[in-house]
Amino acid sequence: MPLPDFKEKLHPTLKTYFGYDAFRPQQQAIIEHVLEGNDTLVIMPTGGGKSMCFQVPALIFEGVTLVISPLIALMKDQVDGLRANGISANYFNSSQTVEEQHRILEQVAKREIKLLYVAPESLAGLSNILNERYISCIAIDEAHCISSWGHDFRPSYQQLGFLKRSIPNIPIIALTATADKATRQDIMEQLNIPHAKQFISSFDRKNITLEVRSGSEKVKQIISFIKKHPNQSGIIYCLSRKNTEQLAKKLNSNGIEATAYHAGLNFNERNKVQEDFVYDNTQVVCATVAFGMGIDKSNVRWVIHHNMPKNIEGYYQEIGRAGRDGLDAHALLFHSYADVIQLRRFALGAANEDVQIAKLERMKQFSEATTCRRKILLGYFGELLEENCGNCDVCKNPPQIFDGTIIAQKILSAVYRLKQEEAIGMVLDVLRGSQNAAVLEKGYQTLKTFGIGKDIAWKDWQHFAIQLINQGYCEIAFHKNNALQLTEFSKNVLFNGAKVPLTKPVHVNEPKIAEKAPSRKTKRTKTKTEDSLFERLRKLRYNIAKEEDIPAYLIFSDKTLIEMERVRPMSLMELMDVSGVGQHKAEVYGDEFIAEILNFMGAKLKKEKKKATHLVTYDLYKKGLSVEEIAMQRKLKDTTVYSHIAKLHSDGKNINIYDFVSKSEVAAVQKAQQELDNPTALKPYFDYFEEQIDYFKIRLALSVIDSKK
Ligand code: ADP
Ligand code: ZN
Repeated sequence: MPLPDFKEKLHPTLKTYFGYDAFRPQQQAIIEHVLEGNDTLVIMPTGGGKSMCFQVPALIFEGVTLVISPLIALMKDQVDGLRANGISANYFNSSQTVEEQHRILEQVAKREIKLLYVAPESLAGLSNILNERYISCIAIDEAHCISSWGHDFRPSYQQLGFLKRSIPNIPIIALTATADKATRQDIMEQLNIPHAKQFISSFDRKNITLEVRSGSEKVKQIISFIKKHPNQSGIIYCLSRKNTEQLAKKLNSNGIEATAYHAGLNFNERNKVQEDFVYDNTQVVCATVAFGMGIDKSNVRWVIHHNMPKNIEGYYQEIGRAGRDGLDAHALLFHSYADVIQLRRFALGAANEDVQIAKLERMKQFSEATTCRRKILLGYFGELLEENCGNCDVCKNPPQIFDGTIIAQKILSAVYRLKQEEAIGMVLDVLRGSQNAAVLEKGYQTLKTFGIGKDIAWKDWQHFAIQLINQGYCEIAFHKNNALQLTEFSKNVLFNGAKVPLTKPVHVNEPKIAEKAPSRKTKRTKTKTEDSLFERLRKLRYNIAKEEDIPAYLIFSDKTLIEMERVRPMSLMELMDVSGVGQHKAEVYGDEFIAEILNFMGAKLKKEKKKATHLVTYDLYKKGLSVEEIAMQRKLKDTTVYSHIAKLHSDGKNINIYDFVSKSEVAAVQKAQQELDNPTALKPYFDYFEEQIDYFKIRLALSVIDSKK
């Protein structure tokens, strides 16, 4: 199947169908390798652009490309996405009737489709077309599902080895986002493609900002976070069903659209939550980790972990659902010791208890890190990041270190006085001198260390105690009710004067990463005010998506809308220069989007014109003209000019306002304002003064009152 001239077709295909100008790193090499007829294994992180690696070849190959995909729920979205680009695609699975399936086979025989998505269970139904006459390439998505080494093993994937045996000349491309060395080997062996060339991309998701915060006042922090990200889709992962429901309720009562998702809901309920999220009907989903597998939504802007995940694999997979479109995204993790203790309890007694606990330990280290978090994360996956990332909370706001020896001594001596029998909470209560029942019952109020730490807040003590644990100066005896105990290093601090460096705590109301001042790029991903062009384009996209019953991000990605906002294309030609606008989308949606842009520009011009009029008045005022002279020159009414004067004064311009309204008039209006209970219109004032003070004077007086507030 020689395709001599395919290289010339690569860029035009990418541009015409997908509207992109350049391939991402590795994509072109992979695509060429596939088009040359070779077997290929692609390891690329979520959002890296795996689909393009088989979709571009599919458009160039003569026959059909089969795409094996484990999730029926996702197939429809993927096919819808291709069709929105004018690509003929379909899926074949058990959700269809025999007639439908038959029609699809006919389409394949007539070479009417380029890509056919199929669930492994349904492959048997394709036996008539499963040969070189019809099929040009086979893509195996989520290829890690074939391996029992992986974390998402699916028995139906194990039969896929027959493909290479029965049609050996058809190139296979296997793709996944997660596979360590053993899993990769396993995938190639089971698929019978031992010589496949491996293309392994960096795991790094640079566009995701990493942040870890202390878990106190979580809900308050979450609400403030969401309010600073208006209209942005996000997922909040919780540990339990109950958590998801309670949190969703609290968010609702704070005016945030949020729904809960967990395994306790029935199939239809779960589907509804997921669909509403994918279709942009719900902004936030509070979910257990069950949520996300079937979600390809490219514009999830943030992921919050309400509780600590049990290992780094899970954490990375979950945050990976944010920012697939490559735009800035935020991953915020709340860290609390209570979670660590609870997760430990869950792990105890499991068949692989040691492994689970070791993994939890790594997760904990990540959460408590005082060095670049991305380095730790990538290091965990065997990748070395040479330089600090600059996009995590530690990089952006390095911890401030101080000499914490005295603090350490206080904590350790409290542990000692409590006979190493009490958990962290009690140790801190004693330091703080809390007179609570538990303390009094045990008579701890008589200890020498009782109340020696009143000057430091409880949660700051906790922050310090955790650091002592991390530095090995004390430890938690999990088998003894989590009692805090001394270690062999403790005495260096208590008796030998060893210095202990500690980091200063960061407080809730001063988050480590300023939410209000995002990087230049994030600023644009923010939806700003309701009447920004981006927001109008987003609404248009939402309405079209609703009409067509497909997810909004499939019409245009957020990234594409942002570029439209920046470039403001006013013709189809200009629109097609925007990244993500292919020929088909330009033809189908172009007019509507251009109309919206023109509309917006027109409204803006009008507004600017209007705004200018009072500034013209200001110029004349500065030249020393009186109100009457300005009115005459500008052919305006005196009252209009007075209203300009009022506005100019309100805007802080340099106006001698008392030339126009007397102090006693201002005082009278102020009195009226109080008695009338602050009306928004001028008429009530006018009536109040029984028409004895002119409207323009009232307005001028109000501008004086306002400027004093
Ligand atoms: P993955 O399957 O690896 O998670 P996708 O294939 O869904 O990732 O791609 C993620 C996003 O990146 C999609 O919105 C896709 O259109 C976009 N994308 C892929 N390749 C390119 C490219 N060369 N230029 C611009 N955007 C791209
Ligand atoms: Zn960093």
